[in-house]
Amino acid sequence: MAKIGFIGLGNMGSGMCANLVRAGHDVAAFDLNPEAVAAAADVGAVPAEQLSEAVTGAEIVVTMLPAGKHVLEVYFGEDGVIKWAETGTLFVDCSTIAVEDARTANARAAAAGFSMVDAPVSGGTAAATAGTLTFMVGGPEDAFSRAKPVLDDMGKNIFHAGGAGNGQVAKIANNMLLGISMIATCEAFALAEKLGLDAQTFFDISSKASGQNWSMTSYCPAPGPVPGAPSNKEYQPGFAVDMMLKDLRLAAAASEGVGADTAFGDAARAAYEALSADGHGGLDFSGVMKRVKGEI
Ligand code: NAD
Repeated sequence: MAKIGFIGLGNMGSGMCANLVRAGHDVAAFDLNPEAVAAAADVGAVPAEQLSEAVTGAEIVVTMLPAGKHVLEVYFGEDGVIKWAETGTLFVDCSTIAVEDARTANARAAAAGFSMVDAPVSGGTAAATAGTLTFMVGGPEDAFSRAKPVLDDMGKNIFHAGGAGNGQVAKIANNMLLGISMIATCEAFALAEKLGLDAQTFFDISSKASGQNWSMTSYCPAPGPVPGAPSNKEYQPGFAVDMMLKDLRLAAAASEGVGADTAFGDAARAAYEALSADGHGGLDFSGVMKRVKGEI
């Protein structure tokens, strides 16, 4: 079992931290929000009042923070992780951040004598709580091998995607595909319905035909066919429009950097940007169905 410093105890980090405690690790937990630290203490983590308390003596530091600027500040800021970490400490950043920020963080960690992996996740808060996240990991092979047992305690599928930043590449490319496929699925259901096919009939056919995809069969945006989907709960998230928008923006920035043609990704981003601007950022991302049908 490892001595772990966990930083970032929000919607995702709280469940992930609890699973590390449950697995028997010695976890010291820190967040800027004292209530989040108190909640972590309730599930058995050692509460840290300062970042330094969580990091000092840790063999592994795990972070789950909102965005790249937080990650760079937490690790490399004036009073950051590298000031307190002991030589040989492994850094595991599970936040979703820009590919470039992940590569910068990895290089700065390496320059300071530390190993680091980017390990963004797929699966929302339910998977974080249940310990069934998918991790997409970028970084050197030896760092991945050290991170793997700890990631196993928080997730179900752990993939090594290659060198530094490649975990973030896998994450944003996957979520760009998800954003596009969700809108395409909404358009197909709306078209079928307008032409006289009810949602269940279209689902029964298309889910066994070549249009089959995850957005349809696991998360159907039309109410009815998939009972657990947010479409049956007034599109309460789930995975909110603003979270999808964050990932589509990261994909757009990364694709611009390498000159990739992501025309449909850009169209999906524009659709989610419009939904968010109109005050629907908190709606589940499958709620784009309501826009496609002209209801919002
Ligand atoms: P969140 O805002 O709920 O949690 C972030 C936590 O980080 C907060 O508790 C905040 O107080 C803390 N924090 C911020 N700056 C800090 C600092 N300098 N020091 C210590 N703590 C600090 O966010 P979340 O929903 O848990 O998401 C975390 C990451 O996971 C994001 O990058 C997000 O894109 C990604 N993600 C989220 C989901 C989801 O469904 N929520 C799914 C997949 C990936």
